[in-house]
Amino acid sequence: MPGRNALFVPGPTNTPDRILRAMHRAMEDHRSSSFPALTLPILSDLRRVFRTETGQCFVFPATGTGMWEAALANTLSPGDRVLASRYGQFGHLFVDCAQRLGLRVDVQDEAWGTGANPDRIEEALRADTAHEIKGVLVVHNETATGVTSDIAAVRRAIDAARHPALLYVDTVSGMVSLPFEMDAWGVDAAITGSQKGFMLPAGLGLLGMSRRALGRRESARCARVFFDLGDMMAANASGYFPYTPSLPMLYGLRESIDMIFEEGLDAIHARHHRLAEGCRAAVRGWGLSLCAREPRWASDTVSAVMVPPGADGAAVIDIAFRRYDLALGAGLGQVAGRLFRIGHLGDLNEVMLLGALAGVELALRDAGIGIALGSGVAAAQAHFGATATPLPPRDGAGSPDAGRPMANRERVAVAR
Ligand code: PLP
Repeated sequence: MPGRNALFVPGPTNTPDRILRAMHRAMEDHRSSSFPALTLPILSDLRRVFRTETGQCFVFPATGTGMWEAALANTLSPGDRVLASRYGQFGHLFVDCAQRLGLRVDVQDEAWGTGANPDRIEEALRADTAHEIKGVLVVHNETATGVTSDIAAVRRAIDAARHPALLYVDTVSGMVSLPFEMDAWGVDAAITGSQKGFMLPAGLGLLGMSRRALGRRESARCARVFFDLGDMMAANASGYFPYTPSLPMLYGLRESIDMIFEEGLDAIHARHHRLAEGCRAAVRGWGLSLCAREPRWASDTVSAVMVPPGADGAAVIDIAFRRYDLALGAGLGQVAGRLFRIGHLGDLNEVMLLGALAGVELALRDAGIGIALGSGVAAAQAHFGATATPLPPRDGAGSPDAGRPMANRERVAVAR
């Protein structure tokens, strides 16, 4: 099909050309004396992205799923109890991972479309006077339902109960794109992957561990080989890995972190919020609703859009892909067929999103879902018009890169 595929799944996200070029290199010796000059700054810069001064960041040739396993296996023993708040397919798989590692999981189910309930978490921890519960598991941004949970409130709940459980947070679709404060929120394990906010292909698992969490390594009896943080720490100390790392991915990660710092985390969060608000305006314009039950739950990285009763969300996705080369996210688990998801994260700007919204309108119409063509696009345009960012200088000269959308920054950099 001519033209570019419009990739609007909530990960993998678009990889900027700048990152693709950085990854396009000949292989090197990962045991050479120059290799640490690549890896050591990456490991320390990642701490700025995770917003931790006291914690340690790890990079694995893996994905987010591997980081669930690494976080749990390095801190817990078979038979340990953990408390998991579950409100979507990824929370469900996180629980499954914990159970398969031999942990006893107390599951707190919340309605899909809502998120972690700090009051219930506090109640369960207060009831655990023997402090049997060793960890609390939550998903920061539940990609399946487009719901963001308040992680600071979960930390306050744990502290209010004066409970020593570690806080494990899956932020696979939150990190970089949404505010995330590993230290300030007292997160003990921050779990993510490369293919969403970092704008890379899938292939790296990224993990932030607090000192307290790392302190549990010695007593943790879960089996671990590939994901052993002890091996990783020993090799990382001098800038190496215990096994062969993926060089293109590391060069890509270097470029990704540079781009993140150039735009600035605050500016990235503001851009994602603005794009998400535009998408939500479009959904209202169509007369449809989000899976997120209240505005406070709505995610700035993915919108899960309910189709009317009797309609098939999978048909919308299939038509969008086959007829318009537009990739939308599927409904997963409980909500399969009942919604479609629009990912709005990573290397993205208004015009790209407007194109996708126009494509969604066509697919909705073709699937027999009566919406007025243009209604969502116009609502999003109105939002973008009302919140327009300052006009940059014509030639880009002297303009700070910070705050400019990523795609624009690259254009300016090339022009220079
Ligand atoms: N957690 C969340 C919230 C996700 O969105 C995903 C993937 O989309 C995962 C975990 C699993 O990550 P991966 O596919 O990188 O293993």
